[in-house]
Amino acid sequence: MADNELAQLIAARVLSELQSPSINASEPDRSPYRSYADEARACRTTAGMRLIPVGISARHAHVTQEHLEELFGSSHHLGVHAQLYQPGEFAARETVAVVGPRMRAIDGVRILGPVRAYTQIELSRTDCVYLGLDAPIRTSGDLDDAEAVTVIGPLGSIRVRAAICPTRHLHLNPTEAAYYGVGDGQDVSVHVGGSRALTLELVRVRVHPKVVAQMHLDTDDANAAGLRGGEGVEITVC
Ligand SMILES: [Zn+2]
Repeated sequence: MADNELAQLIAARVLSELQSPSINASEPDRSPYRSYADEARACRTTAGMRLIPVGISARHAHVTQEHLEELFGSSHHLGVHAQLYQPGEFAARETVAVVGPRMRAIDGVRILGPVRAYTQIELSRTDCVYLGLDAPIRTSGDLDDAEAVTVIGPLGSIRVRAAICPTRHLHLNPTEAAYYGVGDGQDVSVHVGGSRALTLELVRVRVHPKVVAQMHLDTDDANAAGLRGGEGVEITVC
């Protein structure tokens, strides 16, 4: 077939596709894709409602009483360095060093109290790269595939499968969740303005009666968005 015949054939085929009823006629759109505009229309923001304060979580550790005693000696109890924003939670006086496969250590990793039923090391992605870890992004307590690290205290060390990068999340009590119209486990997004404006998606809502409204970001997310903690944000619910 000559080149010009082939070109004519292709042109005719394209024309017939373009003129086919599915595109031209007033049939409903059968495209399997939802347009971004449709998605945006289905969303609502909490503009005009109470702003939600941002809290930035630097790397930290939660420990069991048993692990605390292995690290700091028998009968050791956590001391209070500073109360945290969430009622009953505190930054402990005790810090540990965390060592990963690259034989590098991050020291001064603060333990947050009170002691918990599981030991968990919460790191930023940047920390993980430094230590040589590929820790999964997980919500607190979901440690099935957490990375193994060595945790060192003044009187002992432990090797635990406990390192995660925390999921972006938003703490609300049930009254606040009802006020914002969201539920436990739901993902919302948060648009941050300013010179490093960005939208943080997949912010997991965690509803618990003993908390007050606060969005928790790690230092990577906070730095990327130019947040320093204490700012107020609106959420977008889709
Ligand atoms: Zn949190």
